[in-house]
Amino acid sequence: MPVTNTQFSTITCDFCKKTITYPGQEEQQILSQPENSWVIKTARIVQNLAPAPGQQRPTAFLLCSDECDAQHVATGLRNVPEPKKIISGQASAASVAQAAAVAKAAEQATAALKAGQPGIIS
Ligand SMILES: [Zn+2]
Repeated sequence: MPVTNTQFSTITCDFCKKTITYPGQEEQQILSQPENSWVIKTARIVQNLAPAPGQQRPTAFLLCSDECDAQHVATGLRNVPEPKKIISGQASAASVAQAAAVAKAAEQATAALKAGQPGIIS
């Protein structure tokens, strides 16, 4: 047999980098071994619905377990960055006075609640 073509599959966790590489024709045998059972039992792919700015497609992440999934959430890599909310334009004296009055009322309501008095929650 002069030439043999073999296709390999590689699965890597995007958090802990656990990796398995195996020849395609041995997939069932390799993945049925206990040390490789994570591929079938706990691995998952997480993908955003929309692509991040500047990307053509949403990013997909492969994670090997619940632990890696939870720790991957904490990285914030899954979330598309949101633009900062900046209030533009000039504030009028009336709107500044109104905002100050609302803040003062909230402060008084908090103090009343902490003192055990009833307060209005808006
Ligand atoms: Zn992992």
